[in-house]
Amino acid sequence: MQDYLVRATAAEGRIRAFAAVTTNLVEEARRRHDTLPTATAALGRTLTAALLLGTTLKGKETVTLRLFGDGPLGGIIAQADAEGRVRGYVQEPHTHLPSNAQGKLDVGGAVGKEGFLHITRDTGLKDPYTGSVPLVSGEIAEDLAHYFVNSEQVPTVVSLGVLVDTDGHVLAAGGYIIQLMPGAGEEVISALEQNLMGATPVSALVELGYSPERILEEVLKGFGVNRLESREVSFACRCSKERLEKVLISLGRKELEDMLAEQGKAELKCHFCGDDFTFSHEELSRLLAEAAHGTIRA
Ligand SMILES: [Zn+2]
Repeated sequence: MQDYLVRATAAEGRIRAFAAVTTNLVEEARRRHDTLPTATAALGRTLTAALLLGTTLKGKETVTLRLFGDGPLGGIIAQADAEGRVRGYVQEPHTHLPSNAQGKLDVGGAVGKEGFLHITRDTGLKDPYTGSVPLVSGEIAEDLAHYFVNSEQVPTVVSLGVLVDTDGHVLAAGGYIIQLMPGAGEEVISALEQNLMGATPVSALVELGYSPERILEEVLKGFGVNRLESREVSFACRCSKERLEKVLISLGRKELEDMLAEQGKAELKCHFCGDDFTFSHEELSRLLAEAAHGTIRA
């Protein structure tokens, strides 16, 4: 199944909901960053969360999630745009911990409980807006729900899941966000709680072949789900050799001269996607000339 997400309302607009199936793109992230299972789950949950948050973006807007905990994983960063593209990485991709007491990948242990979740919305027009909350559990879904309740005063349920095969491949990944709009009374809340109490984990639903629509119909049983939009999602990075040229030039003349003298070339890796870029001796010499010209600009 192609990865995609849906945006919907339910209970006559008193609930808004987003759901995504992200198995392929999480597997691509795993392959690109060579993550071990616990790191794969943490990165996959964060990539999925960024896409779900990005559902309402327009034009050139982006949303970036950054989690910095005190666990062995270091930081996690994921950024989604309005086109359904997401990119991201973890600082320590080779993090893998023994399963937790529930027999699940110990994402909370890998992320850590002390730290922060930052969410930055960039409209590309004015200064980006960043909201931050302390981590609750490092399990990511719980931290995100906490963010919505505390920073945006929106009662929110978040579920994110990544199922990793014994050989390390991603079997299933996905998630959903359910938000209560003003006007959602006690009746709606208790019925929703009832639904969620017996809910199958979202990664298990994806493994069973559930589409985002079916996931919402399952979780919002009895609420009358009204699908508003669906969108394909994928792992895609915005890096290019041109962009990296600018990075090299910005290092300045001295740095480039040293690089040329010591290595005869430059090798750069994009953090977000893991792609490698090599600048040959000739290319570096040309950049050096540009850097010399651009000393005022730099
Ligand atoms: Zn890249």
